[in-house]
Amino acid sequence: MSITEIPRAFLYKCDVCGAEHIQEGASGYYTNSRPPHWAMLRIEQTAYDYQGAACADGTIERLLCDACRGEAIKVINKWATRKMKV
Ligand SMILES: [Zn+2]
Repeated sequence: MSITEIPRAFLYKCDVCGAEHIQEGASGYYTNSRPPHWAMLRIEQTAYDYQGAACADGTIERLLCDACRGEAIKVINKWATRKMKV
């Protein structure tokens, strides 16, 4: 009989395009993080009911792969630059 430890691995999946990244051999610290060059897009907001009263946390989070991160930054910067009145 032999016993072999199988290292823990974490599979990250981009919330937009579905790209995957497998992180192996990370002893736990990686679980609440993200792969190198990936990003977490987070919009913190409150959800309101039909009468306008705050009723819940409406925060939106998207885990983005490297490519989607780059595209999101471009789109956000383009939008913000166009809207800014300087
Ligand atoms: Zn992606």
